[in-house]
Amino acid sequence: MPKNYVIGFPRIGEQRELKHALEAYWSGSEPFTTVETTARRLKLRHWNYQRDAGIDAVSCNDFSYYDAMLDTAVMVGAIPERFRDIEDDTRRYFAMARGDADRNAMAMTKWFNSNYHYIVPELSASDTFALNAKKVLFEYKEAKAAGITPKINLIGPVTFLALSRSVDGSDRFGRFHALLRVYAELVEAISRLDDGLIVQFDEPLFAGDTDPAMLTLLKTAYDALGAVSPRLRIAVVTYFDHAVEAAKVLAETPVWAIGLDFVHGAENLEALGSLGEKTLIAGVVDGRNVWVNDTDATVALLERIAQRLPKERIVVSSSSSLLHVPFTLRFETQLDAELRSWLSYAVEKLDEIVLITKRFHNAPLTPDDLEALKANRAANASRRSSHRVHDAAVAARFAHPLPTERCAPYEERIVLQKAALGYPDLATTTIGSFPQTPLLRKVRRDFKRGDLTQEAYDAMIRHYIDDCIAFQEEIGLDVLVHGEPERNDMVEYFGERLKGCAFSQNGWVQSYGSRCVKPPMIYGDVSRPEPMTVGWTTYAQGRTQKIVKGMLTGPVTILNWSFVRDDVARSEVARQIALAIADEVDDLQRAGIRIVQVDEAAFKEGYPLRAAKREAYEAWAVECFRIAVAPAEARTQIHTHMCYSDFNDIIGTIEAMDADVISIETARSGNRLLKIFKEVGYKQEVGPGIYDIHSPRVPSVEEMVDQIRALLEVLPKEQLWINPDCGLKTRKWEEVKPSLANMVEAVRIVRMQP
Ligand code: GLN
Ligand code: ZN
Repeated sequence: MPKNYVIGFPRIGEQRELKHALEAYWSGSEPFTTVETTARRLKLRHWNYQRDAGIDAVSCNDFSYYDAMLDTAVMVGAIPERFRDIEDDTRRYFAMARGDADRNAMAMTKWFNSNYHYIVPELSASDTFALNAKKVLFEYKEAKAAGITPKINLIGPVTFLALSRSVDGSDRFGRFHALLRVYAELVEAISRLDDGLIVQFDEPLFAGDTDPAMLTLLKTAYDALGAVSPRLRIAVVTYFDHAVEAAKVLAETPVWAIGLDFVHGAENLEALGSLGEKTLIAGVVDGRNVWVNDTDATVALLERIAQRLPKERIVVSSSSSLLHVPFTLRFETQLDAELRSWLSYAVEKLDEIVLITKRFHNAPLTPDDLEALKANRAANASRRSSHRVHDAAVAARFAHPLPTERCAPYEERIVLQKAALGYPDLATTTIGSFPQTPLLRKVRRDFKRGDLTQEAYDAMIRHYIDDCIAFQEEIGLDVLVHGEPERNDMVEYFGERLKGCAFSQNGWVQSYGSRCVKPPMIYGDVSRPEPMTVGWTTYAQGRTQKIVKGMLTGPVTILNWSFVRDDVARSEVARQIALAIADEVDDLQRAGIRIVQVDEAAFKEGYPLRAAKREAYEAWAVECFRIAVAPAEARTQIHTHMCYSDFNDIIGTIEAMDADVISIETARSGNRLLKIFKEVGYKQEVGPGIYDIHSPRVPSVEEMVDQIRALLEVLPKEQLWINPDCGLKTRKWEEVKPSLANMVEAVRIVRMQP
């Protein structure tokens, strides 16, 4: 019986070894065997980390060359038709993940409310599933050879099916029994491996709102899988929110254990009474965040759980896979000691889990354990009291309620703005960034490293802005931007300038495939020591008679793309960021900037999995946006931008944000989505992206003329802006120049002949 457990471990490598090996293979500079060798080394290292720390249940099959949902599709034989003629397994796998010259890649989307993205399986009624257990069995044997008897990680059949999409209009749940048969066959094969093996099925679907039909499938699935072999122990784990309903259902099936997340779903305490004889995998160490665990509080929580369940049936676990946190603090040599003591990455979390287990079971503590406990208490005490976390100046600004209203209603503002700004109907603009050239990236990198002087750096940025402004004037755009050459990333740039926010050296987490991100860490009260964008924005405005739009990242987006402190509510952190952005909006308008765009690219990403929690989220998220733009005078025009194409569910929220102009990512859906704005009687101005910046293709004047005319069938010209559908930083100048010139030309034609 394991005493402790880790749901899963990250795989990209502490030096992003897998990323580098994959990219070398994709570029043709290394053979696939290099990737395999790297993979073997990483798996071994990760198993050893877990075993050496004292983790009883170490995973296999949590490794993936690209993504676990994709692996599952391969495992059950759900290969979309267009890839079936590729004979080589490896080539087929990566073609599914990334596309090739002849085939589109499979779609990718966010894994629940995390920033990890999975490959969306494609199903159709005519497919036959067939088991391919090669990878699963291979990884098990690999671990055994390394002296480890691992548990086997699998994505559960209900979650797999629910996250798949049907490509022929058939009901994908019609395939449930066929899929379940393949899973049962797999479990049967696994049961021949060893006695007492743990097979873990991830069913995070059930941490969201639970449809009774899904609960029925859950029961059917685990009645069947749990009955395959008495030699196995089946664990069904959920995470990211509570799963009270599913726990009740699973308690009536022949599974061995149920995994519940007590970090993100305190409601799971209510499920304890209905677990019957089941073992509880208690997710108590946060798998999604980087803060040191308060082990005293965690042991107390476990004691509370133990009032409802015998201790022998409680397994101490991470709340989810550790995939969502960076590897190890070992390479963080530049963070100061205090801040570093507040952090815990995957490897450190293993030690936390083991220490908590020992304390919970009153096992004797070694001198090293006692040392670790002392350090843990000291870190938590300093987090509770440090001035760097608790800033009296920030608290003082929150002593009174913050303004959330512009000084005039939209109807009055827009009249003043149109008069003051004098832009035409169908005004043309862009979303902010212009191409980031290799030279520009090098300039920023060299400057950061100290290889380039401030003067030389400033000169390069000025030069970029000059060119950018000159180009925009030349083609006749109406509202210009400075192009964001000084920004690496829309969140990092602000994160680096906000107090209360830090950056790690090596805090990489996998976002999808070989791509990793290094999120800012918001550890304390947030404020803005000095203006962040005023210098470059006013410089750009000084180069032209036309209006230059200032460019900021919104509070909710900064929050959703960061590791956020867990000692206060997220809404409170968001309010602090909002106030810092509000200071910037005010400084920009005082400096003569008349349009300010506050991007909320990730606004929708923070939506809670449970509808019951969504209303509260929307309320504070909207409030934060409104705090951020409240200082704008009536004639200062506020734009916002969102990178989504699906607004059905949040159009009311968008209205409540009360921006004067919103630009949205609808290029790929024509005017269909714009109709939603029309239907709800949306009054503010809208810039539906009229061409797709995600493709290198240069759209022709004619097609954009057609596109604009289609938009005009829905909204009047006074209410429409014309712009690309997102920032241009990933494109090349050769693509951007003709595309924007064509866009302006298309507008000219439509203005003459509507
Ligand atoms: N202003 C940002 C840019 O243009 C917005 C990016 C985004 O929407 N993701 O790059
Ligand atoms: Zn965008």
